[in-house]
Amino acid sequence: MPITELQCPRCGTEVKMGLPMGATVKSVTAAEEPEPSDDDGKKLRALRCRNDHEFAVVFEL
Ligand SMILES: [Zn+2]
Repeated sequence: MPITELQCPRCGTEVKMGLPMGATVKSVTAAEEPEPSDDDGKKLRALRCRNDHEFAVVFEL
């Protein structure tokens, strides 16, 4: 599983996450409850940076 480095949208801290092979990150949002996006093959994953900010990553397979 490839490891992708993302930045927390609130503090810029680098956060590493594993994405499924071939996944493309579409957006990183600080929204606590992003709108569901189960269309178009988009997936949502909740992450938390080391400063305890929750954010969400939308990626596409
Ligand atoms: Zn943060």
